[in-house]
Amino acid sequence: MAEAIPSVDTSAWRLQTACEIQKAEYRVIVSDVGQLTSHENTRVFGDVLMANEQFVRAFTDPHLDGFAHQNLAIVTCFDSRIDPLRIVGMAAGDAKIVRNAGARVTDDVLRTLVLATGLLGVTRVLVMPHTDCRMATSDEAGIHAKIFEASGVDTRSIEFRTASDQRATLREDVQRVRSFPLLPLGLSVLGAIYDVHTGQLHPEPEVD
Ligand SMILES: [Zn+2]
Repeated sequence: MAEAIPSVDTSAWRLQTACEIQKAEYRVIVSDVGQLTSHENTRVFGDVLMANEQFVRAFTDPHLDGFAHQNLAIVTCFDSRIDPLRIVGMAAGDAKIVRNAGARVTDDVLRTLVLATGLLGVTRVLVMPHTDCRMATSDEAGIHAKIFEASGVDTRSIEFRTASDQRATLREDVQRVRSFPLLPLGLSVLGAIYDVHTGQLHPEPEVD
């Protein structure tokens, strides 16, 4: 029978507590049942909460709504080197950002784009994978093996959607957006690979 999950002490979440935490102490302490206590969790997120406190001090409400005011959606990878808005000279309020491993056009990305185009002002979609992407330099079996080696977790029940030919996969994903019946016919879709070392976008030539 599973152990009970420790009850959450909400008072431990107070920012004051977080601010008392030294950054050097952000070591994950896992309890016997594999769950973090609320206090341990607060320690793990201490830097995040402290940074947010500073952010709030300088924050002024820009009175933005949820529209993409530059009419753009970017589908890109979750890679931490990618700063999607800055890459295209935009800021909060300008574009919708949809991210997953490998910048793949999945069913959930299509669902999100239907909302973005139907309700939130998006008329153009940039599908933007990147150089040096693990999803394009490993195959399915390799990723499963790496995770098993690192953590002992057998992940073979899911598909990571790796791309053996990144440019061909990008063309297919662009076409998947273009041909999705619930998206508007006039939607502009561009595929481009972002170079994480130069910052440059390399548009994939159109194939008619
Ligand atoms: Zn990636």
